[in-house]
Amino acid sequence: MADRMELRRILSDDDATLDLSSSGVIRLVEVDGDVHAADQVNSEEPLAGQRASVTHLGSEGGTPALVVVPAFDGDVLLNGSPVGVMGIAHPGETLSIRLAAGMSDWLLVRSFAPELETIGTDRANETCALCGMALSCATVVLCSCGVAYHQESGPRADGTVAVAEDPLDCYVRAQKCHGCGDALTLEPRTIPDPRDLGLMARAVS
Ligand SMILES: [Zn+2]
Ligand SMILES: [Zn+2]
Repeated sequence: MADRMELRRILSDDDATLDLSSSGVIRLVEVDGDVHAADQVNSEEPLAGQRASVTHLGSEGGTPALVVVPAFDGDVLLNGSPVGVMGIAHPGETLSIRLAAGMSDWLLVRSFAPELETIGTDRANETCALCGMALSCATVVLCSCGVAYHQESGPRADGTVAVAEDPLDCYVRAQKCHGCGDALTLEPRTIPDPRDLGLMARAVS
C-alpha cells in the first residue's frame, strides 16, 4: 500500500501539501514567507530558516506518528499548545509553525492508497481476517490498521489494475474491517479527511 504522512494547510486560502514521506530527518524551513519540507538526512546542522525538524516514529501495525522538534521554544504549536523540547504528532492533529509574518497552520494526515501486494514472509503464517485461509495463497490488501485480507482484483503498486477470473476478493467482500471497523474500499483516501473536520480551505474574501 502507498502510505504517506503529509501536512495539509488549513484555515488558509490555498490547500498546499507538504510531503513527509522521507524516512530521515525532514526539516520544516521558512523560505519566502512559506513553509517548505527539506530532506537533510545526513546533516545534524539546522538549515537557515529552519523552524522544526520531524522524523517518523516507527509503528507496529498501529497509527503512525511523527516526532516534532522545534528549532526554538514556541516555534511550533501542537493542537494549539507550545511544543517544548519535542512533541509527538498523530494524524488528525494540527501543527502551527511560527513564520516571520505569523503562524502557519497545518493538519497532519495519512495519505493512504490500498494496493494489491504479496504478504511479507514475516506474516506468511497468518490467515485472512475474512475467509481464514493462509494469506500466502493469494495477493492481499492491507487495511490502514494493518489487518490483511485476500484481494486479487484491483490496483497494483505499479499503477496497473489486476483483473482476475473468479477472484478471491476478501477485502472488498468484508466491507468493514474486522480489526478497526473502517469501511474497506479500494479508493485512495486521506485520514482524517480535512473536509470531515470542517477545516477546509477558507474562501478568498
Ligand atoms: Zn481470504
Ligand atoms: Zn482495519
